[in-house]
Amino acid sequence: MTVYDDLVGQRPVVAELQRAVAAAGTDDPTRSFTHAWLFTGPPGSGRSVAAGAFAAALQCPENGCGTCNACRTVRAGSHMDVTTVSPSGLSIPVDQAREIVRRVSSMPTSGKWQIVVIEDADRLTEAAANALLKAIEEPSPRGVFLLCAPSPDDVPITIVSRCRSVALRAPSAADVAAVLMRRDGVDEAMATFAAQAAQGHVGRARRLATDETARIARAAVLDVPMVVMRGIPDAMAAAAALVGAAGDVADTVSSARDAAETAAYRDAYGENATGKGAPRGSAGLLKDLEKRQKARATRTTRDTLDGALLDLAAFYRDVLLVQVGAGVVSVHGDHETAAARLAAATAPESTLRRIEAILAAREALGLNVAPQLALEAMALALHAG
Ligand SMILES: [Zn+2]
Repeated sequence: MTVYDDLVGQRPVVAELQRAVAAAGTDDPTRSFTHAWLFTGPPGSGRSVAAGAFAAALQCPENGCGTCNACRTVRAGSHMDVTTVSPSGLSIPVDQAREIVRRVSSMPTSGKWQIVVIEDADRLTEAAANALLKAIEEPSPRGVFLLCAPSPDDVPITIVSRCRSVALRAPSAADVAAVLMRRDGVDEAMATFAAQAAQGHVGRARRLATDETARIARAAVLDVPMVVMRGIPDAMAAAAALVGAAGDVADTVSSARDAAETAAYRDAYGENATGKGAPRGSAGLLKDLEKRQKARATRTTRDTLDGALLDLAAFYRDVLLVQVGAGVVSVHGDHETAAARLAAATAPESTLRRIEAILAAREALGLNVAPQLALEAMALALHAG
């Protein structure tokens, strides 16, 4: 076992990170360690998983064994010298950036490095980016910045130019299926189906393969193209159902993850970590943890909804491929009959308009439009064609 076990289909990246960790541990002044890293890759490729694994490997006495206390607490989000920053709203404001700088400049308490992981560096405001810039240019000797973003273009060039870039790729369906079988004990048929349906998104593939709720939610999503054809009231009901189902899946995901984190926290700091005699700063840590969990739950709902829209867009793409006669493997192989039926009954132009309506809804969600509103507008457009 190593800290990199959760990274799927990223062998070159793992090798690069392992070399960097080994070099960082030699204390050889000729091998200067890079204090700022930028992890990029499409959604679901594992940007924050890679950053988290790297953080654990840097703190681990064995360079990333995956089992020691350092590795486990970093993974659980309770390591004193690894801070994960994710935006609670749509952006990371300047005062949060200043807090990051203050944190990364302080000496590590128990670990080797003081590490800050910024999960959505593309959401730094301009002022926040400027506040980070100086600390990245002249890092403290033990400070490490790990930034994550979809692509280098999403981060101010001034920051990108001072970071070492690590580019993850979308793992192939075969890679995803293999990890589902090896790690999660999923049988081959289910693993192949989930990997294909999740379009390279490891987390979604795992949920599809292991969680009945996620499969039911997906089936409901892929019913939407038929339901909206029945009339406007049905289209409106479909929109409401999509929002509700995303909330259900997010609840399942959050509660399991939060419980594991809180348990790991108790392991590290004792049952009464917030009471008398608790280690200094642990009450603040617990508060941080709760705040992070809440922000993450909101994001999980939106991410789940976004995943549903990607499923829906892929279905209409499958329809379009039938309509234009392209012999390409469909994403939703188990819904080929429905796709063929819709392809015969509608024109390619309306399929394109429907795909555009879905992309518009995704964009609206990204701009923090109320999910119900965004999806109702989309459902109407799907009905009208
Ligand atoms: Zn370890």
